[in-house]
Amino acid sequence: MGPPGAGKGTQAKSISLRYRIPHISTGDIFRKNISNNTTLGLAAKSYIDAGDLVPDNITISLVFDRLNNEDCKDGFLLDGFPRTVEQTAALDNYLSVKGVQLDAVVLLSVPNEFILDRMTGRRSCTLCGASYHIRYNPPVVAGKCDICGSDIIQRKDDTEETLRERLEVYELQTRPMIDYYKPRGILLEVNGTKGINEVFENICDSLGAGKVNDNN
Ligand code: ADP
Ligand code: ADP
Ligand code: ZN
Repeated sequence: MGPPGAGKGTQAKSISLRYRIPHISTGDIFRKNISNNTTLGLAAKSYIDAGDLVPDNITISLVFDRLNNEDCKDGFLLDGFPRTVEQTAALDNYLSVKGVQLDAVVLLSVPNEFILDRMTGRRSCTLCGASYHIRYNPPVVAGKCDICGSDIIQRKDDTEETLRERLEVYELQTRPMIDYYKPRGILLEVNGTKGINEVFENICDSLGAGKVNDNN
């Protein structure tokens, strides 16, 4: 977890490769559905464009459907979920029924003064969702994704106006989850203001010191 632009998607891609677990990004799933004009995409679009959260009932059932996939049976990484207390409680409930424990909650700490620059310079792959930055992490070939070669574009919700709303939503609805997870001893706070590779190493170090098994 972490505020918009903290680097969740960037780090999640690397963690998922390193630990060989699927990367489940609610934002990516919503965006894919919007570009494919599905019913889910249609339902989510107006909320996303305004910088608001998609309603809990829609988001929760989408994540549970995804977690029921065979590829999640040996572990998974959630990126951008849960984001509300209601989603957190629903996830707890789902996991306890399945007899699955959350190993870790990684919190990327990035103060607000970094966020605007990260967000307005962000470019995203239309196919695989990979995040780039015009200055901090440019693709090798301009406009094309390093991983899958698809076009990279600026997200419609990455504007200064939407950012204000998204930061407010984070403070009011998502930040309270810190107090929910902290007492359980699974919250790993990592300084997200360092370079991308350094943040990744720090996440792996703190996961290594925690309960997660690194099978590589
Ligand atoms: P960021 O972390 O940069 O804000 P995401 O890609 O995680 O971006 O999310 C983009 C948008 O998708 C959010 O602003 C919100 O509208 C919607 N969204 C993503 N995850 C959730 C969620 N768990 N609950 C509700 N809405 C979500
Ligand atoms: P989130 O998923 O939390 O919204 P992203 O992973 O998409 O965030 O990162 C937001 C933007 O900041 C992207 O343009 C990304 O390339 C850039 N970025 C991510 N991590 C760092 C970092 N440690 N230093 C500088 N820029 C970063
Ligand atoms: Zn791609």
